[in-house]
Amino acid sequence: MIDEKPVVATTDEVVAELRKRPAFVMVSHVKPDGDTLGAGLALGIALKKLGKRVHYFQQDAVPRNLRFLPDTEFVSRDVPADLPADTLWVFGDMSDTARAGEFLPKLARENILDIDHHLGNSHFGALNYVLPHECSTGTCVVHLLRGLKVDIDKDIATCLLTTIMTDTGGFMHSNTTPEVLTLSAELMHLGANKEQITEEIFANKRLAALKLLGRALNEAQAEHDGRYIWSFVDEAMLAECGADGEDTEEIVNHLRSVEGVEVSALFKDYDGDIRVSLRSSGRVNVQAAASRLGGGGHFRASGLTFVGSLPDAVRAVDEALVAEGL
Ligand code: AMP
Ligand code: MN
Ligand code: MN
Repeated sequence: MIDEKPVVATTDEVVAELRKRPAFVMVSHVKPDGDTLGAGLALGIALKKLGKRVHYFQQDAVPRNLRFLPDTEFVSRDVPADLPADTLWVFGDMSDTARAGEFLPKLARENILDIDHHLGNSHFGALNYVLPHECSTGTCVVHLLRGLKVDIDKDIATCLLTTIMTDTGGFMHSNTTPEVLTLSAELMHLGANKEQITEEIFANKRLAALKLLGRALNEAQAEHDGRYIWSFVDEAMLAECGADGEDTEEIVNHLRSVEGVEVSALFKDYDGDIRVSLRSSGRVNVQAAASRLGGGGHFRASGLTFVGSLPDAVRAVDEALVAEGL
């Protein structure tokens, strides 16, 4: 059997392709976060400075806490009818095109650029700029901006710092290397508004979100001698707290912060299928566990969508985690 190593595009190859194309659609994943959106906006704004035509495709609305980012008013699930045939669709922060949602038009592979830092990226583009050692998709974009020799202005710097602060959990996760801190300092020198990012993404919580956190913590179950902790949020809990899906973001991280916990899980049982978020303290690979159930992500943070009942999802995730050494 031939061992097919995925081919990763070089920075020069991607830069040449970006220079060649006249028009771009930056694509972010469903339930967007500061990385997928910030990376797309940073590259989009830079390409506009080079005189290119740029659109932003995102199936879901821009979350409340990301609306401060520049250009978000142009983000839409509608695609203009008059796009040139050689428009390049740039996917950011996702392992496969399905993560962009069902509204994504059918695309030819030759018109796809895949920029990502996920471990299990399926290399779905004509060019795949997949750098799993980068802390965010935004820091992959930094290499491209340097290659393109565009000035990183204050707007671009804010988008890029948002990707870093989102995916390092505000410089707390283990992907916060000295290089990441140096780059973040450079972005601040270029005008990135760290205070605003902190406020919008890590503070500014709605009271409903805190009430929901309290409800979910009340339901938390510790298992496997306290090494695993899980909880859930369902329609009734959202209604009770006056909360919505955007208010669930931090719950799984709080569960992970409990003493002795190696893996935490949150089961989101609303909007049809059950979406599961997994976090690891570093011993168990939750990306591998999520992959067993059709999901993906990173070693310490992953997710999946489960079709079935909540008890079935809880059982399946438990089994997948045990199979990965929990
Ligand atoms: P979340 O728990 O939603 O913050 O997601 C954590 C990580 O898992 C992110 O890197 C996501 O891209 C990834 N992820 C979440 N849900 C899925 C899914 N259904 N399929 C693949 N990857 C996912
Ligand atoms: Mn993401
Ligand atoms: Mn990311």
